[in-house]
Amino acid sequence: MPVLVMKFGGTSVASLDRIRRAAKRVGVEVAKGYDVIVIVSAMSGKTNELVGWVNETSPLFDAREYDAVVSSGEVVTAGLMALTLQEMDVPARSWQGWQVPVRTTSAHSAARIEEIPTSNIIAKFDEGMRVAVVAGFQGISPEGRVTTLGRGGSDTTAVAFAAAFGAERCDIYTDVDGVYTTDPRIAAKARKLDRIAFEEMLELASLGAKVLQTRSVELAMRYNVKLRVLSSFEEQSDEAGTLVCAEEEIMESNVVNGIAYSRDEAKMTLISVADRPGIAAAIFGPLSEAGVNVDMIVQNISEEGRTDMTFSCPTDQVLRAEKALDAARVRGDINYHDLVADTDVAKVSAVGIGMRSQSGVAAQMFRTLSDEGVNIKVIATSEIKISVLIDRKYMELAVQALHDAFELERTA
Ligand code: ADP
Ligand code: ASP
Ligand code: MG
Repeated sequence: MPVLVMKFGGTSVASLDRIRRAAKRVGVEVAKGYDVIVIVSAMSGKTNELVGWVNETSPLFDAREYDAVVSSGEVVTAGLMALTLQEMDVPARSWQGWQVPVRTTSAHSAARIEEIPTSNIIAKFDEGMRVAVVAGFQGISPEGRVTTLGRGGSDTTAVAFAAAFGAERCDIYTDVDGVYTTDPRIAAKARKLDRIAFEEMLELASLGAKVLQTRSVELAMRYNVKLRVLSSFEEQSDEAGTLVCAEEEIMESNVVNGIAYSRDEAKMTLISVADRPGIAAAIFGPLSEAGVNVDMIVQNISEEGRTDMTFSCPTDQVLRAEKALDAARVRGDINYHDLVADTDVAKVSAVGIGMRSQSGVAAQMFRTLSDEGVNIKVIATSEIKISVLIDRKYMELAVQALHDAFELERTA
């Protein structure tokens, strides 16, 4: 029988009532003749609570134990979803990551899926089970310990299952009815896109649009998974939501197609480091070993052999970054006068594949921000995006102003 993957995010399984609603939707697809793999997130707010407990217990936590704690939210919803389906007379069984098993790397808290053997679940489908409910976000390392896939990782679980089982489609049910030109919670004028290209979705996700986890888009692109984002709260037709697809399948598109933001950024500046060959390696090597995700990097002008080095990273990694740099200083690998952390910044980015062939987007972006009196602290560009770091208090304003300036409320 054809297989369908249906993923329900946190708000879609936030209560027993919502789980029943999601289960009904699964029942509709089962009635159409699909064998369904349901991927569930933890109830909304649960993972945040668990992460909070870990941080409070141990600020520089052992990531293996972080995973042991934060993977638990999905265990609960997977079991409840299976029970709910059974109550509706749909033959269903739940699976935790290790039972499938979802084999991952041992990079705890940010593991990557390496392999999903299908035989266990297929054997159950052959015995008459119609729905496999799989706890999203979790896997098992080569050492046999539970891993997690990074925040938002259930999306990646879903796409990986769709690829492994050759699913007809991977439907991501969430609390908005598709992918918008920007977060509809920030800009009322945000417009829902019927289709979005993999490359653009990938860029938007990696720049903060949390509607899909970046890695899930990468996998969908690589394995050509038919990926759809839609609402679990509205009645659905087969055309509902947003289809994430190849660029060739999209007729027309704007130069800029989306604005993304990332609220929790920090700007770190090392004041007066020696400007010598190898200095960047001496700084960023230890940061990478400490698991700090460095994003933008700027080396300032050098004077009398010394320079300032600025980089950005997520605010919750500032402590790790400070420790790693301090240790490098104590070892004598680097020396600097001071390390200044500005934790009140946010990143705002404009994304569009049309930028490849059209110039002037950066200039328009800078002009728009300047008209709003927003100061730009750091700039980074690539072929299809421009990102700026600004004071967090201007983030919403900047997103709305850029959405207006690039006329994203209008179709191409
Ligand atoms: P889930 O729990 O279902 O995985 P998430 O909270 O992870 O849901 O992702 C959905 C949220 O993503 C939306 O509620 C919305 O606020 C946010 N979001 C950010 N950017 C966008 C965008 N461009 N389009 C749609 N939603 C977006
Ligand atoms: N529950 C996890 C999180 O909140 C995974 C997910 O929802 O995708 O990050
Ligand atoms: Mg999510």
